[in-house]
Amino acid sequence: MKAAVFHGLGKPLSIETVPDPVCGPGDVLMKVNYCGICGSDLHATQEGVFVVPDGTILGHEVAAEVIEVGKDAKGLFKVGERVTTIPVNACANCGRTCRLGLGIHCPNNQITGFGIPGAYAEYLRADAHHVLKLSNAVTDEEAAMVEPLAVGFHAVERSGMKPGANVLVLGAGPIGLSCALFAHFAGARKVVVSEMAPSRRARALNFGATHTIDPGEALVPEQFASIAGGAPDLIFECVGVKGLIQSCIEMLPPFGKVVVVGVCMQPDTIVPISGILKEAAVQFVLGYSKRDFEIVIDLLAADRVDPMPMLTNKVDFAALPAAFEALRKPTDQCKVMLKTSRSTRRRTQG
Ligand SMILES: [Zn+2]
Ligand SMILES: [Zn+2]
Repeated sequence: MKAAVFHGLGKPLSIETVPDPVCGPGDVLMKVNYCGICGSDLHATQEGVFVVPDGTILGHEVAAEVIEVGKDAKGLFKVGERVTTIPVNACANCGRTCRLGLGIHCPNNQITGFGIPGAYAEYLRADAHHVLKLSNAVTDEEAAMVEPLAVGFHAVERSGMKPGANVLVLGAGPIGLSCALFAHFAGARKVVVSEMAPSRRARALNFGATHTIDPGEALVPEQFASIAGGAPDLIFECVGVKGLIQSCIEMLPPFGKVVVVGVCMQPDTIVPISGILKEAAVQFVLGYSKRDFEIVIDLLAADRVDPMPMLTNKVDFAALPAAFEALRKPTDQCKVMLKTSRSTRRRTQG
């Protein structure tokens, strides 16, 4: 099959023919239709704490179609069914995590596309436990955005946000947009998105932002206060840059909370007294559970959330390496997807 393969720092992805994945007894083999490029794919292929091994096929934001079902998974899926996958490869058995649908915390887990072959490829293999059927009301493009949406859904749910909260979201990339969307959905009073890039600020207004601010224009706490009449009850930090957690703590009112969604790979410093004086909470979040995926798929099927303004470009295999590298620099792009040769399915009655 055709796949985009990583061959070391500083080299663009290489489009190659590699062996097709083999469908094991408990597996589902899929034809990939779309795969989104994720910020974590960029992180994992540049200088940092974690770099994927040479030969890795990245890609974990998947819209696919079942082409083969392993003998132990017969009855769960049919050939031709449209699916997405949770990019975890957990054991499905360990008591405290997998059986509760929290495979991302399984000690045996490996993330699809980070060591386990991912979906920048024509075909993808996954354990049937981690494959989810799609209603015909969910398009392939939407299906490839379930994963980043599930990150935002999970962050908002874990935050314990109450309706009426005044929320600040830092960063309007796909994850910041997803957090804004679900904060709005969960009844936030104000959803203020802080973002440098004008095009990204404009896009945030399609994702539940009631207001946007340019952090380069004036101090963020002052801009927020002029909109919401005070400090943010809850901050979603979706940038992942050193120093931001401390800035967030300083912005909070007493009993406020910062949810750390952005992934900073460097050592960072906070001044505990600034949080102690406010009894502030700092909540870290990781990924999603299977339930988060199921809920996002239901919301998409019912047209209750619309991620399409996030999608800014679709590229074929030949254009993928350059599109991937271009996302490392500041860009007006938001979600860019690999589109394999098969044509887009149309939304049908569902
Ligand atoms: Zn992702
Ligand atoms: Zn497990």
